[in-house]
Amino acid sequence: MDSRSPTTTPDSCIFCAIADGRAPAEVVYEDEHTVAFMDINPAAKGHVLVIPKRHARDLFDVSEEDVQHVMRAVLRVARAIEKALRPDGLNLMHATRRAAFQSVYHFHVHVIPRWWEDGIRPLWRHAAGDPDELREVGERIRKAAESPADGPPETP
Ligand code: AMP
Ligand code: ZN
Repeated sequence: MDSRSPTTTPDSCIFCAIADGRAPAEVVYEDEHTVAFMDINPAAKGHVLVIPKRHARDLFDVSEEDVQHVMRAVLRVARAIEKALRPDGLNLMHATRRAAFQSVYHFHVHVIPRWWEDGIRPLWRHAAGDPDELREVGERIRKAAESPADGPPETP
């Protein structure tokens, strides 16, 4: 676990509270495993968060089953946004750990409709990578991906 990110338990988790109805939210979709609701600080009009009902801290903590449930709900919400709002485009966004800008420690995926002139800037600029580094890093990730990802990553 990342010691620079705070610890959240289901008891103290705002998204768990939304999932079981203890805290208010503008819910747009719900099923047995997931809830989707409006982000209270929208990056753009129609910004929705999709969460698993079962508490998990981040991408390294959530179960594969819950990721599947969440991604199914993400697709449904994205299609609903397309139908209801007709955005110019759409981004999916996820943050794991504080270094990646995670601020709520219950796994979630942002569904963000995009609009020409919405003022959202790209996260990175396109610049060619060093070919040796691409090869070397690619090799490390390829090796790591050979074994099932059922535990915390090995330290290099
Ligand atoms: P992240 O920074 O990726 O962890 O995203 C957390 C998101 O949760 C932010 O965009 C917040 O605006 C949003 N958020 C925090 N509390 C609530 C809440 N009670 N209801 C809806 N959205 C929330
Ligand atoms: Zn939670």
